[in-house]
Amino acid sequence: MLDAAELATHPAAGAVTVDYSNTPVVVGTYEPSAPADGARSLILNGHVDVVPEGREDTWTTSPWDGRIEDGWMYGRGAGDMKAGLVANLFAFKALRAAGLEPTGRVHLQSVPEEECTGNGTVAAMQRGYTAYAVLISEPIAETLVRANLGLIWFDVDVTGTAAHAHEMSKGFNALDAAYSLIGDLRELEERWNQITVGDRTSGTWNTPSTSMSAYCRRASGRHRCPTAVRSRCECRSRRRWAPLRRGKKLKNASSVPVARTLWSPAARCP
Ligand SMILES: [Zn+2]
Repeated sequence: MLDAAELATHPAAGAVTVDYSNTPVVVGTYEPSAPADGARSLILNGHVDVVPEGREDTWTTSPWDGRIEDGWMYGRGAGDMKAGLVANLFAFKALRAAGLEPTGRVHLQSVPEEECTGNGTVAAMQRGYTAYAVLISEPIAETLVRANLGLIWFDVDVTGTAAHAHEMSKGFNALDAAYSLIGDLRELEERWNQITVGDRTSGTWNTPSTSMSAYCRRASGRHRCPTAVRSRCECRSRRRWAPLRRGKKLKNASSVPVARTLWSPAARCP
């Protein structure tokens, strides 16, 4: 099982925001019958978690049914990435069926918590399942990717002043301030996307690939009804950027809109 306390001791671990009490990591290890001197070990890694399915009534059938139609499986996580996970297994079996016998150790890792933090893989590393190389069969454009995105999460808590809706001018609606914030985050996204990236990695990241999503997760006032001017809105955002982007460049590109929004909200929203 993932262990939040154990994860906290590793520098690569991400913030734990969900319950890990029923979140196992499964690893199968192939030990060569005749290990060779200097043989290189390998990890075949895939994740089993998925991003939220959204409104189920917008799906043709339940996202959890695994419906098969014309040879394709439809359902949340079928492609990303149960397919890759199973492909790892079948590739290994196919190699052995072809008469090839790995002379180094191979770990097959099925990990949770990839979509948010990578903590499943970190947990496997912490338990000693490491290797010379790792192959993650993530289905990205059916191409080999040698580097990947970095990302941060951040929360912004927008505070307003509660009031009754019939005299809303006496209050300060946190939602209105959040609109400005989200707009400026989009401007920031545009600026970051202007920063060119070299092709030292795979070439995949030469086109703008930085994106940001922000959503209001709570807008609470004294009353949870439309009659109240909201006094609080919490925005959670996920920022990612391509490899080779440097903090200083990002900081310079971000200082104007972020400062304008985050440090002077009251001046903008009387
Ligand atoms: Zn994935």
